[in-house]
Order: sequence, then C-alpha cells, then structure tokens
Amino acid sequence: MSNKVHLGHTARKRFGQNFLTNESIISRIVGAISPDNDHVMVEIGPGLGAITEPVAESVDNLCVVELDRDLVERLESHPFLKDKLTIHQGDALQFDFAQLKQPGKEMKVFGNLPYNISTPLMFHLFEYAEEIATMHFMLQKEVVLRLSASPGTKAYGKLTVMAQYYCQVVPVLEVPPTAFTPPPKVDSAVVRLLPYKDKPWPCDDVDMLRHVCSTAFNMRRKTLRNNLKTLVTDDEFANLGIDASLRPEQITVEQYVAIANHLCRKPT
Ligand code: SAM
Repeated sequence: MSNKVHLGHTARKRFGQNFLTNESIISRIVGAISPDNDHVMVEIGPGLGAITEPVAESVDNLCVVELDRDLVERLESHPFLKDKLTIHQGDALQFDFAQLKQPGKEMKVFGNLPYNISTPLMFHLFEYAEEIATMHFMLQKEVVLRLSASPGTKAYGKLTVMAQYYCQVVPVLEVPPTAFTPPPKVDSAVVRLLPYKDKPWPCDDVDMLRHVCSTAFNMRRKTLRNNLKTLVTDDEFANLGIDASLRPEQITVEQYVAIANHLCRKPT
C-alpha cells in the first residue's frame, strides 16, 4: 500500500499532511501538553486524531481548527471524539482565536503543524499571547533551532527575536521522519512556547519591533548601521549603547526592543 495512505485517508501534500504514527512520541507530546479542564484546549490541524484522541481522554472538551473538509467529516462521525470536540472548519491563519475564550480560563494551544504555514501561523498566534498559557508545536527541526537561537549564531533572526519577545522558548523533543505517515523530507522537533505574563522587555509598539527586525535582518552580512541607516543615526546607536558596526544577529532581543521603543518615542 502507498505510504501516503493512513487509516483509509490519502495524505494531501497541499495541506501539509504528515500524520503522526509513533505511539511513544505521541504519548511524550501529550505528556508535554499536560491536558486539563482548567484551560481551553485548542488543537490546530487534528487530522486523523493522533494527538486529539489521547488529549480528549483527559478532558471534557477540546476545540479543533481543521482546514480539510474530509477530515472534518471524519471527526464529526468519530465514535469517541464526536461528543468531545468543538470543530471549526477553516484556515487557522485566518481564525480568530479570541472567540474560544472562556471566562477565567486561558488556552493551551497545540498541534503538529503543517510546515508550509508554521511561521506565519506562529506570528498569528503571538497576537493572542495574552490569552494563551502554553503552546506546543511539532515543527521542522530547523524552525525550532531558529526559535530557540542565541545571539551570535546563524539561526538567530527575525523569528527568534519576535518569538523570544513574546515567549520563553523550550525545545522539548526531536522527532525523526519515520514517526510520520508519509514521512516528511526533513527532521522535526517539538517546541514549548510559554507566553510571558510580564514581558521582560516591554515594547511600545510591536509593529515597530517587527519593522526594525525585518529591516535589520534584510541583509545579514551587512552591519546594523548599514541595514538600519534610514531609521537610526550613529549618534542614536551610541545613545542606546549599541555598537552600530555589529551584524544583525549580534544584538539581543532587549536591544531590538530598545531600538523600537526609541523610534516610537522619537519626536517627529
Ligand atoms: N495532528 C495530525 C497528526 O499529528 O497526525 C495531523 C498533522 S498534519 C502535519 C497537519 C494538519 O493540519 C492536517 O490535518 C491538515 O489538514 C491541517 N491543516 C493544514 N493547513 C491548515 C490550516 N491552514 N488551518 C488548519 N488546519 C490545517
């Protein structure tokens, strides 16, 4: 049988469908998620239910967002899950996660994400960070390395700065392609993102931080002075205590926030 067929469903590449089939990895992921009824449990891309089923065993209700209508139909008629799930058929990138809020409860969000949309999806979820207690995602291993990178390393970039602005980032587990059907072409890893209740470096305007990061990392081989020349003068770099001759990967998240706050507060 084709390695694209799992439980009678042919995996759709355009939906990034790689179904988890390794029981021991599934149970480690569920342990990391730590499902409970004190939080609104939210899964992105439940697929055929590999993580959904064991999570649903521990909770009364689980909200899921799934794009593939065929998989939604299967979930709706699933003998055990149909009574536990609140199913939202649609694109998680466009989904308003605030509608899942319940009084006095934060969300625990998780998913084995479609890799083709994982970065924009995390940026989308960061907008709801204040409502979220924990996020656990299966991602391309390279993306987990970028999320958790330290300044001065090759993996450190815009995604690192934005993720570490919002969240504490903890790599949890590496996962080989053989844990999935069909196996993806890349190694995978699970990451835990814990949104800060009190941000260590509060920013006046996150759009400005995003703009500074995009501009700074535009050309990684150039200096901050060069990349940010339309935004920050040498004197301003000096006042901020930042060496303008460094490359974009050499300054910290705190320093990126300091640049963004300086630009927000600068008289026009
Ligand atoms: N959770 C299942 C598992 O671990 O076996 C499936 C994971 S599979 C990598 C990704 C899932 O996300 C699929 O079910 C796919 O249909 C769904 N998906 C793809 N794009 C989506 C989107 N934009 N919004 C919501 N779900 C999406």
